[in-house]
Amino acid sequence: MDADLALAWVRAIAVAVGRHRDYLTQLDSAIGDADHGANLDRGFTAAVTAVSDLDADTVGAVFLKTGTVLISTIGGASGPLYGSAFRALGKALEIPSADPAAFAAALAAGLESVQKLGTAVPGDKTMIDAYAPAVAAFEEQARREAGFAAAAAAAADAAEEGMRATTPLQARKGRASYLGARSVGHQDPGATSTALIFRALADTTARL
Ligand code: ADP
Ligand code: MG
Repeated sequence: MDADLALAWVRAIAVAVGRHRDYLTQLDSAIGDADHGANLDRGFTAAVTAVSDLDADTVGAVFLKTGTVLISTIGGASGPLYGSAFRALGKALEIPSADPAAFAAALAAGLESVQKLGTAVPGDKTMIDAYAPAVAAFEEQARREAGFAAAAAAAADAAEEGMRATTPLQARKGRASYLGARSVGHQDPGATSTALIFRALADTTARL
């Protein structure tokens, strides 16, 4: 992955989030405050504008900018969380081009920063339930020296499986946790947007 591909991924996320805006909002209206679609649409639209003007010479510069813009434009829990993930990716990738092993390590740094900030663990019914298995799948493929596209496809599949597995869980973090047992039976909005983000990575790298 080089800076152009990083930019293509951020653009693909913005398109996917725009397309699924109402769906994300609908999920968040069941167990939250119905703003997740609007939050992410606003954040990634602003991120695309900012990174398009950047003329980045490292992969990380694209992600650092993306993270900073997400933090400043998304109100709500997901802004700081996604923002810190992208900023961690950025700091880990101050190189012109990243191979799957370097990208796997950067994804793991992103996961660590989200968990440090939000203190959620797998099973709490959050974006971590999609993010953690996606990182594990990407790492495993990178260890086997699979190509970028294969690793990203495996990560997207794992994220979607993790997303679906949030439905029977009771939320233990974030706004949905205020509902207690009433959060059971609904898919988590943040896990859903994380799955969209990894599917956008798979789609972007499949065109390589
Ligand atoms: P808010 O809850 O402030 O309205 P959003 O609706 O944009 O923010 O995002 C909600 C999503 O954020 C949840 O579905 C969940 O996946 C994620 N989330 C909330 N709190 C945490 C946390 N502490 N750690 C990880 N993810 C979290
Ligand atoms: Mg919300």
